[in-house]
Amino acid sequence: MEMKIGVIKGDGIGPEIVDEALKVLNKVAEVYGHSLSYTQLLMGGASIDEYGVPLTDETLKLAKESDAVLMGSIGGDAKTSPWYQLEPSKRPEAGLLALRKGLNLFANLRPAVLYEELKGACPLKEEIADRGFDMMIMRELTGGLYFGARSTEMIDGVLTAKDELTYNENEIRRIAVRAFDIAMKRRKKVTSVDKANVLDSSRLWRKIVEETAADYPEVELEHMLVDNCAMQLVKDPAQFDVVLTENMFGDILSDEASMVTGSIGMLASASLNETKFGLYEPSGGSAPDIAGKGIANPIATILSAAMMLRYSFDLDREADAIEKAVADVLRDGYRTIDIMSEGKRQIGTREMGDRICSYIM
Ligand code: NAD
Repeated sequence: MEMKIGVIKGDGIGPEIVDEALKVLNKVAEVYGHSLSYTQLLMGGASIDEYGVPLTDETLKLAKESDAVLMGSIGGDAKTSPWYQLEPSKRPEAGLLALRKGLNLFANLRPAVLYEELKGACPLKEEIADRGFDMMIMRELTGGLYFGARSTEMIDGVLTAKDELTYNENEIRRIAVRAFDIAMKRRKKVTSVDKANVLDSSRLWRKIVEETAADYPEVELEHMLVDNCAMQLVKDPAQFDVVLTENMFGDILSDEASMVTGSIGMLASASLNETKFGLYEPSGGSAPDIAGKGIANPIATILSAAMMLRYSFDLDREADAIEKAVADVLRDGYRTIDIMSEGKRQIGTREMGDRICSYIM
């Protein structure tokens, strides 16, 4: 297969961790006979330094012309970086928001996986961690409360703030379809999370998700109220496969699910639109505190590249090979500093990339 990939190395540790992900992709292409071409794109701080703005129209155009975009993290230290002397719309993060909007990325996917070898980092009780978990939090990204009308005004002499939560059936259906498609590639279960006992938007959410489920008879669907879901994530995370939810609930639940895995350097993510296109990036930031030291954990970016192969190119076998190589490296005791524990062997960013490549055969 020929794959045209846009690459945004980003700021801070971005270039270091993206280089390792590209190394792994190149190894996969060699072993499985694929052809990859990369277009380097500047976004965030690196784009401000070069062009004075965090995202140019040309970069957005080139991103749209790619089959998928792999990205490191962007941004710098808000206290010391000159990027943060600029007005908010010119800062690095504004580039990322504009890119997501320009690419119409409405579905955010964050896997939360507890690796057998990293169980010690899991903050949950031992008997819960022992059961392991492997879930995909799927969050609607462009609708709901964060995009509704808002106002603060004096009503009858009382200062009153208002935020509107709106979803239409099309916005719900398109993400529900993605969730069921993804469940078909996994353990075939969708937990749709809402607050249907209170909110009209949640009742519509539930109705449309149920209609969508009718097209996927192999997938088990359950509904869960968001307050219960927040509890279940720490009580019994093993029960979840795909967790589908709206923007604000997803914002909170995806962070909660990330925390129970115990390591930020391991967390991949993807944002998808209606086509096969996706933007794939680690969940963590640009870690300016460790940039340039060669110690950043590249695994989240490498796993994001695996997600790219699975969801943008339907190369499940190749994605499995990367995920297995990561598990093998951990099993053999290699760790970057952030996931280091007693008796394990500490290695740097590059060696981690090399070792993962060596397990892909
Ligand atoms: P951060 O995630 O960059 O760092 C938090 C802590 O985690 C730091 O101690 C860091 O060293 C560590 N860490 C993060 N990734 C790591 C990795 N791969 N390996 C080892 N350790 C890792 O969060 P922050 O310090 O709050 O933010 C730094 C910058 O990143 C800010 O400018 C912020 O806006 C930006 N940011 C960007 C994105 C993105 O590009 N999507 C996301 C979050 C934050």
